[in-house]
Amino acid sequence: MKESAPAPTIRLLDQHTVNKIAAGEVVERPASVVKELVENAIDAGAGSIRIDLLATGTTITAIRVTDDGTGIAPADVPLAFAPHATSKITDISDLDTIRTLGFRGEALASIASVAKVTLITRPRNDALMPGTRFVIAGGAVLENTPAGAPGGTSILIEDLFYNTPARKKFQRSRQTELAHVHDLLEGILLSHPEIAFRLTYNGSDQLATDKSPSSLDTIARIYGADLARDLVPVSRTHPLVAIAGHVARPSVARKDTARIFIAINRRYVSSPALTNAIKAGYGTLLAKDRFPVAFLTLDIDPSLVDVNVHPTKKLVRLSKEPEIARIVTEAVHRALSGHDLIPDIRPGTLPQVITAGSIPSAASPLPYRHDPLPTGMVSEPTHAGTVATDRQLRQTELVPEPAAGTTAVPPLTVIGQFGGIYILATTPAGELIVIDQHAAHERILYEQAGQKDRGETRVQELIAPVLLHRTPRESQVLSSLIPDLAKEGFVIEEFGSSTFLVRAVPVVLGKLEDASLLDDIVSDLTSPDRSQRVDNRERITRIVACRGAIKAGTVCTPEQCQRVADQLRLTKQPYTCPHGRPTMIRFSRGDLDTLFKRS
Ligand code: ADP
Ligand code: MG
Repeated sequence: MKESAPAPTIRLLDQHTVNKIAAGEVVERPASVVKELVENAIDAGAGSIRIDLLATGTTITAIRVTDDGTGIAPADVPLAFAPHATSKITDISDLDTIRTLGFRGEALASIASVAKVTLITRPRNDALMPGTRFVIAGGAVLENTPAGAPGGTSILIEDLFYNTPARKKFQRSRQTELAHVHDLLEGILLSHPEIAFRLTYNGSDQLATDKSPSSLDTIARIYGADLARDLVPVSRTHPLVAIAGHVARPSVARKDTARIFIAINRRYVSSPALTNAIKAGYGTLLAKDRFPVAFLTLDIDPSLVDVNVHPTKKLVRLSKEPEIARIVTEAVHRALSGHDLIPDIRPGTLPQVITAGSIPSAASPLPYRHDPLPTGMVSEPTHAGTVATDRQLRQTELVPEPAAGTTAVPPLTVIGQFGGIYILATTPAGELIVIDQHAAHERILYEQAGQKDRGETRVQELIAPVLLHRTPRESQVLSSLIPDLAKEGFVIEEFGSSTFLVRAVPVVLGKLEDASLLDDIVSDLTSPDRSQRVDNRERITRIVACRGAIKAGTVCTPEQCQRVADQLRLTKQPYTCPHGRPTMIRFSRGDLDTLFKRS
């Protein structure tokens, strides 16, 4: 700055400029306008809400939200557009009991400062009170006249961001904006099953829900009936929090948290702490890098919930958060335990059209493939092969936990092996269970590694130590992993630069005739970790479980198959492998009968 520059003059901004600045926080994009308007309609006690979007060219040009809520009295209409004017609180202490979505009184003022707004409203419960038509653009009132109108409110937004060119240019394609509207409405619809919603886009229906006592219908409408069938109800009442909703079977788990829905006091929120609490409720039913599908609504005393953290109110601050998180974890855990979580094959998910010459084959999730079975792999078990598999299986006797016996998996009687990959078994109820032998054995080994933590580390010394050469970068990673590897049963020493001596390996890896196996394991461990957010111990345990498990394509005797099935039942989480893939799939008699058109 130049020496001669005068001190700047400080001025108070005019109200219109203040509103436009405030709009930057609340009205970020078309979807945020939809959010504010729909929340106002909900706060007005609407039983049905309709959202119409119009788009031309690349942008959304008009947004209209129509509700059958309380409506606004003529004298109050201009006030609704005044900054910091609200009917929802009178002073700050009201925030301790707030149950409405809005309370800041700035949405309509902000929107009216960056767009043209046409409001038509009439009080619903006062037949004598006239309706009002009110038009305001860039903060200037253009019209305020009595008008006939149905009870409720309809508000139309046009020319959004017409006077804020930078914001307008920043708008993405209309598809992106529509996707944002969908994202936002999903959360709102799920938190308000008691309201009928309808979204149209350029006149065509996008999404519609009916009034319903439970969110299950909404879930089915948005995510499909199949997901709704995979849900387990959750319900818990505690002095601190009442929890209701659903969590999904682990078989539908995801790589991200996009299907974890949490509403607190009817407000859809994002809460990392509660997301983790839900995941914790699954325990090892889910791999560490997998996330469940869950829809939970929490009712908490509003004085414990601070919604005034951010203008969009999506983040909330909870007092007693650790206690509430613990109750959520418990509720999810209880809902899942004792529940049979084997994924069902449903006739509805299979292709219906059967043409001559084709056998009805299961679409996903049944891993059916048409490639011919590798010849030579699936044949009579050889003596040497059987002995090797026997040894692999014997290394992995899972000791029943004292608390075992709570397993919801019925006793399994093996019928045989199919394709060297699947074990076929029946239950006392006459169901057909298809087990993936590799995934099942992987789960068994994984849990055995957990048991090992409480005592015996099963280490096997190599007759001749194996020498490993790695690149300098890999060597660095490997030497940092040596302590963790030791806990899993690997005895590895550094042996000069970039060279390691392997003296012992976990017993589950067998005799390790083949040093390349160890090389593979080290490569797995030293490769840059992609999406996984798991610690080294966990990665090592998983790799050992995977490498130690009987492979797909290994012919097993009936006794060996039965052993895998029996041990799988003894695991704490028999339904998935450590990576979250299913270990078994069920066909009920009824489903098979339907497939064969017997029913
Ligand atoms: P807030 O929702 O925080 O109170 P808004 O600027 O969104 O602030 O709305 C201001 C006021 O206008 C609300 O408090 C409410 O009284 C009234 N209002 C807005 N939309 C509606 C509606 N759809 N139905 C009835 N009243 C409404
Ligand atoms: Mg509002």
